[in-house]
Amino acid sequence: MAEARIELIATGDELLNGSIVDTNSPWLMGQLEGLGLPVWRKTMVRDDRGALVETLRMAASRSDVVVVSGGLGPTSDDLTAECAAEAAGVGMRFDEGAFASLEARMRARGLAVSANNRRQAMVPEGAEVIPNRHGTAPMLELRIQQARFFFLPGVPREYFALAAEELLPRLSALARAAPQRRTILLRCYGLPESALDQKLASLPDSFPGLSLAYRTTLPENHAKLTATGPRAEALLAEAVPEARRRLGLDCFGQDDETFSRAVGNTLLDKKATLALAESLTAGRAAALLAETPGASRYLLGGLVVYSERLKRELLGVPADLLAEHGAVSLEVAESMASQARSRLGSDYAVACTGLAGPEGDERHPVGTVMTALASPSGVTSRRHLFMGDRERIREFAAYATLDALRRSLLTS
Ligand code: ATP
Ligand code: MG
Repeated sequence: MAEARIELIATGDELLNGSIVDTNSPWLMGQLEGLGLPVWRKTMVRDDRGALVETLRMAASRSDVVVVSGGLGPTSDDLTAECAAEAAGVGMRFDEGAFASLEARMRARGLAVSANNRRQAMVPEGAEVIPNRHGTAPMLELRIQQARFFFLPGVPREYFALAAEELLPRLSALARAAPQRRTILLRCYGLPESALDQKLASLPDSFPGLSLAYRTTLPENHAKLTATGPRAEALLAEAVPEARRRLGLDCFGQDDETFSRAVGNTLLDKKATLALAESLTAGRAAALLAETPGASRYLLGGLVVYSERLKRELLGVPADLLAEHGAVSLEVAESMASQARSRLGSDYAVACTGLAGPEGDERHPVGTVMTALASPSGVTSRRHLFMGDRERIREFAAYATLDALRRSLLTS
């Protein structure tokens, strides 16, 4: 059986005039993806009768399942039910059951039932009315052409609840018939997307049935490996080690293994502790590491040493080193790392200093960052040049500072 085509429609002027972001659809996409039912299209449309009917008709002509969010309420801009009837070529009928539960709900809250509420109990002929115990507007299921349409209220709390309780169970038969699909996310740092693709692009030749997709969440690049079919699991079990072999240390983790956790794990494996001395990142590298629960097992702490005075007085960087090389230099970064290691008493220490901009100085362009690593076997350092705005340079610098440690621990 061919894969069912599932399409989402989110309605509402608010979604298209910049006042709110559609959070309903991404949530549902994730749920459906987990059931092996990927969404292949999503449309956003205003509360406009013509546009809405046209959108519903288009969806009916090309998809098997369509989930529509919003516009089921009692106000005059809530047009979805009427437009659904029009697209299906049917009339509207008054639903006693929907009205009774709405009335009961209003009474319980001491509210008077208005004409608008009667309107809310009008549903397309032939629609199944699915009660909504989380709000007033019921969920509707209706066939338009060959497609099954589900209409859910737009209020996120109601949408999530009805989708989980009523929609997903109704799609479970589709889920059982869907071809097996397994995915794995490989998370990389230090490898541009094009280089990532170069390394992996030929994988599907060796592993037929495998597909690749890339995503950048700077400064990370991710590759998603998807295997489809009855051998999905086995295929991934073979392909992933080969992908990781090709990526080497540039791949720091898989699936939910974040960069923070990956760095932490390398420290845990060596039973080693870390201290930091940060200038331009002002604690960002330490904060990144502390995102992972249990970081106290390896993270001792760090110093934010922005000014030259604190680099000298708090950390003990020699004044003549600062005078001779300037604060943004490999020499100073190395001194910061080895001073942090000895003063804070850790097995390893990392340090960074640089220019986050927007202003550079006479010696270095904006984005110049020096990172250093002090380990029991000595001190190493590296110069980087990061592009972008201040925020991005500081984020890259935090990663680079920790990544030097990760790579060193993995190869020592
Ligand atoms: P109501 O009975 O509340 O009118 P409804 O089904 O008519 O429900 P809408 O009027 O479309 O739903 O939306 C109600 C509110 O829910 C909106 O004001 C908006 O704040 C929120 N909302 C609607 N759609 C979305 C969406 N896709 N993502 C996030 N929030 C949404
Ligand atoms: Mg509404």
